[in-house]
Amino acid sequence: MKEQILGVNVNMQSEEELMQLIDSDIRNGRKSRIVAINPEKVMMASKNSELMELLNESTYQIPDGIGISVASRLRGGEIKGRVTGIGMMDALLKLANKNSYRIFMYGAKKDTVELAAASIQGKYPKLVIAGMLDGYEKDMDKVARTINAAKPHILFVALGSPKQELFIRENMERLDVNIFQGVGGSFDVYSG
Ligand code: UDP
Repeated sequence: MKEQILGVNVNMQSEEELMQLIDSDIRNGRKSRIVAINPEKVMMASKNSELMELLNESTYQIPDGIGISVASRLRGGEIKGRVTGIGMMDALLKLANKNSYRIFMYGAKKDTVELAAASIQGKYPKLVIAGMLDGYEKDMDKVARTINAAKPHILFVALGSPKQELFIRENMERLDVNIFQGVGGSFDVYSG
């Protein structure tokens, strides 16, 4: 259930419908990746075929930015509302809290990720923070080993775009994780 906005795939489902699909991915041990699509990324991708491929090969492209649903409506499409990256992260945290899923937080500065983790744990006491790592570690094998040792269901990657999408593409196969989401500056929001 996807539409194309200037060649970029975007999911048409609501946040609630997407969360059901994602929960089923976790329960069935599938790997999926979520990328937030906004008009800025669409414009960049229309001039950069590698970026287009990177966005289009994700499992879910969520319509972040009101411009995406407006563009859909103008084309007679069916994308109704907006599903923001941070809204999706919050929905994933709620799902994790409900089912005691394990999350891993990778990215941002050390203090930021620690403060964000503390704030998330306070708000969602039943989810398990399986681990965290700041986004400035150079040794990628160490990053992968640390994440795998923590065995998270959900990995949030906060390295900014397109760094986080590239990290997910390059490491998805070797990481023992179900759900991968690039969340940009969201740890900064949770830490503040
Ligand atoms: N960041 C990181 N490692 C890097 C570059 C950036 O962890 O090598 C972090 C940065 O500390 C910030 C986050 O990426 O917390 C998101 O940055 P930005 O707001 O620029 O991303 P956007 O949401 O605009 O894609």
